[in-house]
Amino acid sequence: MMQYAFDIGGSKIEFGVFDEAGDILSHSKTPTPSNDRDAFVAAVSGLIDEADREFGDHPNIGVSFAGGLDPHTGAVISANIPAIMGWCLASELSAILNRKVLVANDADCFALAEAISGVAKDKRTVFGIILGTGVGGGIVVDGHFIGGRSGIRGEWGHGNDVTGGLIRNGLAPVKCGCGNTGCLDAWGGARGLEHIHAQTSGNHTTSFDITDAWRAGDDYATRSIEIYCDLVSRELALMVNVLDPDCVPVGGGMASEANLIAELDAMVRQRVLGRYDAPLVVPGRYSTDGGLRGAALLHVAANAQGGQ
Ligand SMILES: [Zn+2]
Repeated sequence: MMQYAFDIGGSKIEFGVFDEAGDILSHSKTPTPSNDRDAFVAAVSGLIDEADREFGDHPNIGVSFAGGLDPHTGAVISANIPAIMGWCLASELSAILNRKVLVANDADCFALAEAISGVAKDKRTVFGIILGTGVGGGIVVDGHFIGGRSGIRGEWGHGNDVTGGLIRNGLAPVKCGCGNTGCLDAWGGARGLEHIHAQTSGNHTTSFDITDAWRAGDDYATRSIEIYCDLVSRELALMVNVLDPDCVPVGGGMASEANLIAELDAMVRQRVLGRYDAPLVVPGRYSTDGGLRGAALLHVAANAQGGQ
């Protein structure tokens, strides 16, 4: 069965049409009308109408977005898009669009895509991590999302206290967007690597320039990468000890640095209690489009679970 999928971000809405084999037939994007719900619905409806005309079908819709859903009401409880805050996205869109709509967090969608058809295919416990601007994650066990009381999960970049590691490496702590100080989120993404490098070398540059310089053997960049891997691997080792994942696919911009992920994997495997004879932390197959890929699989996964 064909699937329509949306990945809704703060700046753009991505839309994809997928065939039964999971191949993408059509892909488009449009700016997110982030403050206006009517304009938001019009943007989504417009993409669907266009695809219905082109493909002559009326498929189900999966939606991935950067935020959380209240597990009891289905209302959006966190998102950087005011237009959808507090809205029961799945049921409201379903009523407006007159077809089945399922909605999930984008990191969960990434983990699902990796578990079903990516680097974690046929693996039982999958901890998909996002090393993008900041740090996020999604957990899939036996093809199911895990769920709990608040609807917020997989957020291993918050609630940490990496202050000791910062001081040990001569770095000054910063306040996180969540209000705490010491969260890995401020240090474990591209923005964090840039902060580390700025503080250790005095050089304000992009994460791409830093990893390029690291590969070229630059001393300052080498030091920045060492600190980055030290901070991230400690927190990730704790998550691995807790979850015992079969695979930890990495998504987000940092996943494009295969050497960096291999370094991180080696440090994590050295630190954890379990023993592994092959890499555990690996670049995801869908590191750049996991939200959209996972959204296209939401109905497939729900049907596999007996229509939940
Ligand atoms: Zn935080």
